Amino acid sequence: NRRQVLASRPEGAPTTDNFRLEEVSLPQLKAGEVLLRTVYLSLDPYMRGRMSDTKSYADPMVLGDTMVGGTVNRVVESHLEGFEAGDWVLGYSGWQDYAISDGADLVNLGKNPSVPSYSLGVLGMPGITAYFGLLEIGAPKKGETLVVAAATGPVGATVGQIGKLQGCRVIGVAGGEQKCRYAVEELGFDLCLDHRAGDFAEQLAAACPGGIDIYFESVGGKVFDSVMPLLNDFARIPVCGLISQYNATTLPEGPDRTSLLMRDVLTKRLKIQGFIIFDYYARFHEAVRTLSQWVGEGKIKYLEEVVEGLEAAPDALIGLLEGQNFGKLVVRVGTE
Ligand code: NDP
Repeated sequence: NRRQVLASRPEGAPTTDNFRLEEVSLPQLKAGEVLLRTVYLSLDPYMRGRMSDTKSYADPMVLGDTMVGGTVNRVVESHLEGFEAGDWVLGYSGWQDYAISDGADLVNLGKNPSVPSYSLGVLGMPGITAYFGLLEIGAPKKGETLVVAAATGPVGATVGQIGKLQGCRVIGVAGGEQKCRYAVEELGFDLCLDHRAGDFAEQLAAACPGGIDIYFESVGGKVFDSVMPLLNDFARIPVCGLISQYNATTLPEGPDRTSLLMRDVLTKRLKIQGFIIFDYYARFHEAVRTLSQWVGEGKIKYLEEVVEGLEAAPDALIGLLEGQNFGKLVVRVGTE
């Protein structure tokens, strides 16, 4: 059994030295357990946080631990009721070929899920993040202007498309021309702007003549700075992520503008609410049912980037934090 472990903690952006590929043997399978073979491993921005020892909503990983991650696995052998050899499961077995589980962290996807890897994206954690973050916190209304960052990733692409289904005008923000074109031509956004453009703030202001009613925040930094002056009274800001800051080692250069932000929060009666998707897991199936229907009807489109092999995972995660992925990043670890 091969596994990728956390070899050292990154300072700033992770490097391949922070990971180590190891060979270990698995213990004997006991009653009440299943043996799983990893087919797909999800790579997600939160993994960067777990590599540091800063206090956060989840405990940091310990050095030498197997890298954490959502997985889609096949059951190889089962000593657990409700699971049979050959079943597909959604699990959390991390960056390794095989794992043993007592079933507590598994969702049985049955023998024939239509596209198994979708359970790591639009029909899984990122999809429900978009669903609850936008519908419950963003509370979109017909005719409102929604701005969504990281617009072609699994969260952002889903947010924008749900926004369109709710009758919003949707402006995406993404890195580069190719991603922006995809957001408009394939995902049906009204516009998509490249945050790397020198005049991004001016472009955003021109794109939102009636201001911004909902900003779905996934990146922070310069994008947020450009959004802030455009927010309307009673705007909602679901704070889902701040990826531009995940590799940061110091605070951004001053002056400190917190008091300006707080003045806007007060005078514009802004609602800024952070959320962690764990809090909605009791409603996982409700969201996935609706998302499956939308995907089945072609109302929500979804793009995956699949990289091959466990050995490719470190470079792929490093690239994700720099915006090199195009679509949901998944590693094919083993054969189906
Ligand atoms: P994505 O596939 O969208 O990958 C991250 C994207 O962020 C990159 O592709 C890149 O897109 C963009 N990005 C990276 N650095 C910067 C930067 N400096 N400035 C602007 N954009 C940048 O990931 P996900 O869809 O999985 O996740 C999106 C966000 O949602 C993340 O912040 C993540 O942490 C958060 N999240 C939060 C959850 C929660 O429970 N709160 C749950 C799941 C995700 P581009 O090239 O377009 O700039």
